[in-house]
Amino acid sequence: MNQLTLADFHLTMQVMDNIDAGVVIIDKNYTVYAWNAFMEAYSGIGSDQVLRKNLFEVVEDLPVEWLKNKIASTLKLRMRSFSCWEDRPRIFNFSNFSPVTGGSSFMYQNMTLTPLKSLDGEISHICLTITDVSDIARNKTHLRESNAQLTHLSMTDRLTQLYNRGHWEVCLAEEFERCQQTGLPSTLIMLDIDHFKRVNDTFGHIIGDAVIRTVSSLLRGSKRQNDIAGRYGGEEFGVILPGTTAEHGLYFTERLRNRVEEATVSVDVRNIRVTISLGVCEWAPWMKNYEQWLSLSDSALYSSKKNGRNQTTIYLREECKNENSFLKTVNI
Ligand code: GH3
Ligand code: MG
Ligand code: MG
Repeated sequence: MNQLTLADFHLTMQVMDNIDAGVVIIDKNYTVYAWNAFMEAYSGIGSDQVLRKNLFEVVEDLPVEWLKNKIASTLKLRMRSFSCWEDRPRIFNFSNFSPVTGGSSFMYQNMTLTPLKSLDGEISHICLTITDVSDIARNKTHLRESNAQLTHLSMTDRLTQLYNRGHWEVCLAEEFERCQQTGLPSTLIMLDIDHFKRVNDTFGHIIGDAVIRTVSSLLRGSKRQNDIAGRYGGEEFGVILPGTTAEHGLYFTERLRNRVEEATVSVDVRNIRVTISLGVCEWAPWMKNYEQWLSLSDSALYSSKKNGRNQTTIYLREECKNENSFLKTVNI
């Protein structure tokens, strides 16, 4: 090596030690030929400890199999390859002291693997470049979490934490489509608290809200996991029971109706009790759209109200002989 190339090398080494990225050069046997200041600072391993040694023997906690495969394919393809933090958050076990989080967490890393040619033109070494992308990762993760939270908020009713009307109707429309495609049964239930105006008028809106919350938590506790419940209006709720016939849906409605009837909302020394009325309608192939399905469940609910409340009415088309005979009250 003449004077000029040694001077060049000296300059290159200074650049390598001052760039804000880790630089590691290894050969095909994983022997380390360069380990810059960034690597020393974050790994706590000095270059004197690692140079001319096997990378995997000196550095602990590396994803050995994965990194060896990555190195092998870079050498085989003779092309640069990359690793992104989104696929593998870290390669080297580095800590990161962030003023944002106010403490230490691991460093998210991107890595580039560059094949290096020796003087004879053969690829003999590989350069690993590690960049700290913790800020980007944290921002993106935060954004993702905020979006998920916003999506949740846009679908959820604040008072009851059930689906709000908008989202529940989207679910109902999807369920209607699914029934039309598969022909499988599905049952829609509408329910409404009886004489709720009296609760508000007697105890005020705040206690009225507590009653709505009690009914909705009984509803949540009475349904199966894949049943879809939403707050349709003030004290009116809708529940979709996918895969369930109207007849089987009655087990749910009567369980819920009895639970509501037995529950008390205690405020000061007073115990408030309410009942609910329900309407049940199973999907049928002749229905034109989900709005029709909804309106038939609603008419069954209306019939429960008209016939004295605290009861379930089922819509049965077979009995549709005259205007009033298509609804059947069922109390179990
Ligand atoms: P019915 O048995 O026929 O259902 O009688 P009702 O008194 O319950 O009549 P209706 O269902 O029409 O009354 C709904 C009432 O619910 C009217 C409204 O003031 C009240 N309401 C609607 N939303 C809320 C709410 O979020 N909180 C409270 N506290 N009251 C509400
Ligand atoms: Mg009501
Ligand atoms: Mg109502």
